[in-house]
Amino acid sequence: MSRLKEECGVFGIFNNKDAAALTALGLHALQHRGQEGCGIVTSDEKKFYAERRLGLVGDNFTKGKVLEKLPGNFAIGHNRYSTTGSNSIKNVQPFYADLFDGGISIAHNGNLCNAIHLKKNLVKNGSIFQTTSDTETIVQLIAKSKGKNIVDKIIDSLFKIQGGYALTILTKNKLIGIRDPFGIRPLVIGRLNKSYVLASETCALDIIEAKFFREVKNGEIVVITKNGLESIMPFPKIKERPCVFEYIYFSRPDSIINGTSVYEYRKNLGVQLAKETYVDCDLIVPVPDSGVPAAIGYSESTKKSFGLGIIRNHYVGRTFIEPTQQIRSFGVKLKHNINKSLVKNKSITLIDDSLVRGTTSVKIIKMLYDSGAKEVHLRIASPPIKFPDYYGVDTPNQNELLASKLDIEGMRKFINATTLNFLSIDGLYKSLGYNKRNSLYPQFTDHCFTGEYPVKPLDAKNMEEDETKLIVNNK
Ligand code: AMP
Repeated sequence: MSRLKEECGVFGIFNNKDAAALTALGLHALQHRGQEGCGIVTSDEKKFYAERRLGLVGDNFTKGKVLEKLPGNFAIGHNRYSTTGSNSIKNVQPFYADLFDGGISIAHNGNLCNAIHLKKNLVKNGSIFQTTSDTETIVQLIAKSKGKNIVDKIIDSLFKIQGGYALTILTKNKLIGIRDPFGIRPLVIGRLNKSYVLASETCALDIIEAKFFREVKNGEIVVITKNGLESIMPFPKIKERPCVFEYIYFSRPDSIINGTSVYEYRKNLGVQLAKETYVDCDLIVPVPDSGVPAAIGYSESTKKSFGLGIIRNHYVGRTFIEPTQQIRSFGVKLKHNINKSLVKNKSITLIDDSLVRGTTSVKIIKMLYDSGAKEVHLRIASPPIKFPDYYGVDTPNQNELLASKLDIEGMRKFINATTLNFLSIDGLYKSLGYNKRNSLYPQFTDHCFTGEYPVKPLDAKNMEEDETKLIVNNK
């Protein structure tokens, strides 16, 4: 089954003779945002060239002659992450279409809340869809728009779509970057000598030694041409509400958001977690890698020793990538092993960034007990996730979310921890630089914890149902 839910990393570079190679490097730095497929589209101002592959960037874009097939000074790239089932090549981006105004290629991070609704109308009026991705809806809207040029057509289409999105778009001679009106999904601008770069995170600028220029603003369109960068703000001005999960889990710790490293934010989450939920123990142990910065903060502020009681095998993908629950559980074993001599006979405070289904915690806590740990106190550096996501962070259906079914004591029993505690919602906001959550207009998109959705998930009920009937296997 193919759900219209995607994570993803996007990249773009304008005016550089090594555009494809630099895009491959940028995508490599953004690999944590999606490992299912990757693609690059380039333009030499006359033609477009596209290479899309299933799997990792390093396995596909650094070997052989693939980069030679991508000439031109302009490029965009995409790493795809999807939740279940259909990881077919047809959904791998960037997408390309020949429109009336010329070719257009598009890479999308995020998720549209009304894509199915829009798709139904488009199909009714004769549009033919080739993929199950919501991104194709944007392409179809642009194709059908009566706007007078490509930028106007894009703007026209943006007024029809709803949800979280960061887009990089390539036309023959323009690179365009877009963030949704709330700025739910991230996008930054960098400079590499005379070239402009767009990327989901600053870590993708670092790898190619591009300088951070600024973040694309919420609701902003940046149009990069040989004349420079033009900023267009088509929407009524609203305050940004970035997705809080980028801070908690999704972004790489060495990326900078709003002037501060993600590592620093996560350490703060650990400091605040200690303030709110401290329990005496012998050793602070992170769930690697996601719990490491919070565990460092927790340990530094409590002066309790920190130890790598769990060792992660880095040669397996993230647990979430595995498509079925059965394989996912197996994946946890593949991924983690206990540093037995360190944990034996100790009471452990185990720290992770978040608890979703509970799969990771159940396995790890059992492995810790099997290795002789006396007590395992689980501390989670974010509040309980009770509500599903519809904007591109892959949290599953509500009935799979442990915290939507059980209270804290129920969850503690389920995962078999000695004690269990979570960061409070105001603690989350404090750690990220605010006194407290503004209940009238929250500073972040935090529906996973609160159930308050900045954009109404119009298609929520149908999201599971949208499938094409034809299974195509090109590669
Ligand atoms: P679970 O095992 O289902 O409770 O998931 C919790 C683990 O998944 C934690 O170790 C998190 O670091 C990680 N995690 C949280 N959110 C996501 C996400 N959106 N995609 C992939 N992994 C996640």
